[in-house]
Amino acid sequence: MCMKYYSTNRKSPEVGLKDAVIKGLAPDRGLYMPEKIPVLPLSFYDKISDFSFQETAFRVAEAFFGGDVDNDILKSTVYDTLCFDTPLVGLGERIFSLELFHGPTLAFKDVGARFMARLLAYFVKKEGLERVNVLVATSGDTGSAVANGFLGVEGIHVFVLYPKGKVSPIQECQFTTLGQNITAVEVEGTFDDCQALVKSAFLDGELNAKMNLTSANSINVARFLPQSFYYFNAYAQLVRQGIHDNIVICVPSGNFGNLTAGLFARGMGLPVKRFIAANNRNDVFYEYLKTGQYRPRASVQTLANAMDVGAPSNFTRIIDLYKDDYEKIKSLISGWRTDDDKIRQTVAECFRKTGYLLDPHGACGYDALQNLLRDGETGVFLETAHPAKFRETIEGIIGKPLEIPQKLQEFMKGRKQTVEIPADFAALKVELLKRG
Ligand SMILES: *Cc1c(COP(=O)(O)O)cnc(C)c1O
Repeated sequence: MCMKYYSTNRKSPEVGLKDAVIKGLAPDRGLYMPEKIPVLPLSFYDKISDFSFQETAFRVAEAFFGGDVDNDILKSTVYDTLCFDTPLVGLGERIFSLELFHGPTLAFKDVGARFMARLLAYFVKKEGLERVNVLVATSGDTGSAVANGFLGVEGIHVFVLYPKGKVSPIQECQFTTLGQNITAVEVEGTFDDCQALVKSAFLDGELNAKMNLTSANSINVARFLPQSFYYFNAYAQLVRQGIHDNIVICVPSGNFGNLTAGLFARGMGLPVKRFIAANNRNDVFYEYLKTGQYRPRASVQTLANAMDVGAPSNFTRIIDLYKDDYEKIKSLISGWRTDDDKIRQTVAECFRKTGYLLDPHGACGYDALQNLLRDGETGVFLETAHPAKFRETIEGIIGKPLEIPQKLQEFMKGRKQTVEIPADFAALKVELLKRG
C-alpha cells in the first residue's frame, strides 16, 4: 500500500512518496510526515540479532517505502546505501559509542544522503523528469555527504550552500573540490542564512517555474527516515551482548533530523526507554524542555559546528509527532548543553581515561550521557563524525598529531572551486538561473 505524506502545517494536500521526495518542503512551508508509523512485528524484534545491518534496514525501509518503490530497487537502494557498518564500541560498563562515521565522508549523514540520492535518481528516471536541482544548506557535514552521495548521478545537479569560513578546512574540501554536477556556493553569512536562502528558493515562483528544485536537508523524508536504520542496528548489537533493557540513546543534535529518526524507530516498536538531546551552546531545544517555550534565535559558532543551529528545522516534526504534548515530549526526551570548554575537557578526559577519541559532536553526547544516565540504564551516544574531520580542534586538545584516514586525505588533494555570494536571495537566484 502506498504511504501518504501530510504537511506539518496542514495547509497543503497530502502527497505520495515521489512528490514528498521531489518537493522536499510542502508548499505551505510545512515538513512532510508519513500518515502513519508502521509497527514492526514482534517476530522481527525476536530475530533482529540474527539479521545483518542491511537485512534489518531493508525490513525497516519496506515498512515505509515498500508500497511506493519496486522491491528489488528498494533492496539495492538499502544495500548500496549501507556499504559500511555502524559498530557499537563500549567505553566503560554502561556507555557505548555508536560509530556512524564509517561511510565515504566519515559522518552519519552519509546514510540519509546516499539513500536519498538513489531514491531521487529512481524517481527522475521513472518519471522521465528534466534535470532536478538539489539545494542544500550545510554547516559542514551535510554538504560533503550530499555532494558525494549525488556525485555523477545523471539528471541531478547539486548546489551546496555553506557559510564562508565557518566549516572546517577538511569539511570544506569534501564538497568544494568535486566539480562535475556539484556546485559549491560560499555564502557571506551564517548557516542560518544559508538555510533561509534555501527555503526562499523553494518559495520563489519564478525559480520553481524554470527549474525543478528539491532539498536534501533533513527536511526531506528520504533523508531523515533512513536514519532510523542504525538505531535498529544499535539495538541488535546490544541484544547480541545480552543487554536490552532500559536503553537510553543520546543524540548530538542540530536540526534534529537524527533524533526525529530515532523517535520514529521507537514509534515502530524499537524498545528504547528514552532519548537525550545533546546541544552545544545553541540550546533552543534544551530551553524548550526546561520552560515549554520554543524561542528560535540566531546560531552561535562552536567547536561542534554541525550542531550550530538556532532554529532547528525538525522541531515541528517532533511537535507534530507528539501532538504538541509538552509533558509527553519531556518525559521521553531529556536535554543537556555542553559549551566549548566542556567539549575540550570531555575530549581530553575520555581520551585519557579510555583511550577513545571523541569528535566535538560525540563529546556533547558523551558529556550528556555521563550527566543524565540513571542507575540500571544502558546509554548509547551517537558518534556522528570521525574526529579527524575536526583535526585542528582535536589536535589542539590532545596535543598530538592525528592520523588522517585515507578517505579524507584523498579529498584534500583536490582544487577548491566555489561561487561566492552575499547572504542575499537575489544573488542566489542569479547564480541558480545561470547554472540550473
Ligand atoms: C549534522 C550533524 C549533527 C546534527 O544532526 P541533526 O540531524 O541536524 O540534528 C551532529 N553531528 C554531526 C557530526 C553532524 O554532521
